[in-house]
Amino acid sequence: MPACLFCAIAAGRVPADVVHRDDLVTAFRDIRPQAPVHILIVPNEHVGSIAEVGEERAELLGRMFAVANALAVREGIAVGGYRLVVNCGPNAGQSVGHLHLHLLGGRRFGWPPG
Ligand code: 5GP
Ligand code: ZN
Repeated sequence: MPACLFCAIAAGRVPADVVHRDDLVTAFRDIRPQAPVHILIVPNEHVGSIAEVGEERAELLGRMFAVANALAVREGIAVGGYRLVVNCGPNAGQSVGHLHLHLLGGRRFGWPPG
């Protein structure tokens, strides 16, 4: 996988504001935050999008959501509420081809999304 940005961040080869790292996932602050708290949780290994994920990746998905929830508590947004988003493919506006879970909080979000 040549020159994948989030692979490079997960490996520590490209700098980012990393807030969590373990054996399966890395979490770092989004460079263009859309809310007071905007963190991306990504697999350390390359996975192109959620479309490539089946049940064999249950542990990875569980870890991504568990880390998101733990970070929400740590960032002080768990009580007020937060949003978790996974964009998949062009219609959803996925702009980086490495699976990432957005953790957004600290303000009120509309629904349905635009
Ligand atoms: P997507 O639109 O693919 O769901 O989300 C990709 C996200 O990655 C965007 O919110 C964008 O701001 C963020 N992003 C893109 N490049 C970088 C980068 O170099 N560093 C960080 N921390 N975030 C990035
Ligand atoms: Zn990658």
